[in-house]
Amino acid sequence: MFQLTGKVALVTGGNGGIGLAMARGLARAGATVVISGRDAGKSAAAVAALAAEGLQAQAIEADVTDEAAVSRLFDAVLQRHGSLDMLVNNAGTSVRKQPQDLSLAEWHTVIDTNLTSAFLCARAAYAPMRQAGAGKIINIGSMLSILGAPYASAYGASKGGVVQLTRSLATAWAADNIQVNAVLPGWIDTALTRKAREQVPGLYERVLGRTPAARWGEPADLAGIAVFLASSGSDFITGTAIPVDGGYSIA
Ligand code: NDP
Repeated sequence: MFQLTGKVALVTGGNGGIGLAMARGLARAGATVVISGRDAGKSAAAVAALAAEGLQAQAIEADVTDEAAVSRLFDAVLQRHGSLDMLVNNAGTSVRKQPQDLSLAEWHTVIDTNLTSAFLCARAAYAPMRQAGAGKIINIGSMLSILGAPYASAYGASKGGVVQLTRSLATAWAADNIQVNAVLPGWIDTALTRKAREQVPGLYERVLGRTPAARWGEPADLAGIAVFLASSGSDFITGTAIPVDGGYSIA
C-alpha cells in the first residue's frame, strides 16, 4: 500500500530541511525523486547525500516564484521522466517582523514564495496528473496556518492561504482522482527555524515547554506523512490539513 516504485515525485525546496527529509522518505519508498531549489550547490549536495544511501534523485534548479521558471521545471521533469505522480509544494521562506515594520516587498516575497508558488506548481502538475488518471499533491502549511504570531503577518497569511488553496484544489480535482492535502509541521529544527531562534528570544524554550512530546521536531519526522499522502493508502483522503507537531497545536 505504501510502495511508490515506478512513481515520480517533485519536491520543491527539496535540497534541505523538511523538503529533503520528505524526498528521502519518498525515495526510500521506491519513488524517483526530483528535488528543486535555487541553490545549485545545495541541490548537488542533497542529491549526493541521497545517492550515497542508494536512493535515486535528480536536481533541477528553479525559482518557484517565477511563472516561466515553474513552467520550465515541469517541462524538464516530464521530458526526463515522462510522468509526474506526486508534487510536494514545500519551498518556503519567512520574514520575521511586526506588521507595522514589514515592507510591501517583504510581504510579496513571503506570499509569492509560500503561497503563489504552490498555486503555480499545482496548476502545472494538473495536466500530467489528469492525463495519468491519478495524482497526489502535498502542500506544506505551518502551525501559523491555524495560529497567530505577532511577527508572522505575511507568513501566517501565506500559510493560512495554503490550507484554503488545498481545499479549493481538492474539490476542483477530486473527480480527476487527484488528492490534495496539506501538512502542518510543528516546530522542526531546520535552517529556517535556527534563524528564527536567533531572531525571537526564548523561542526554543517556549516551543519545548508547550510541545506535549517535549522536544523539537526533526525533519525526518515529516517523512512518514509524505509517504502516506503520496501512496494509495490515502486515496480517499483529500483537502485535509494534518498537523505533524508532537501535539503543539492541541496543547
Ligand atoms: P529551509 O530553509 O531549510 O528550506 C526552505 C527550502 O525552500 C530550501 O530548500 C530553499 O531552497 C527553498 N526555497 C526558498 N525559496 C525558494 C524559491 N523562491 N524557489 C525555490 N525554492 C525556494 O526550511 P524548512 O525545511 O524549515 O522549510 C520547508 C517548508 O516547511 C517551508 O514551506 C516552511 O515554511 C515549512 N515549515 C517549516 C517549519 C519548521 O519548523 N522548520 C514549520 C512549519 C512549516 P534554495 O535556498 O535552494 O532556494
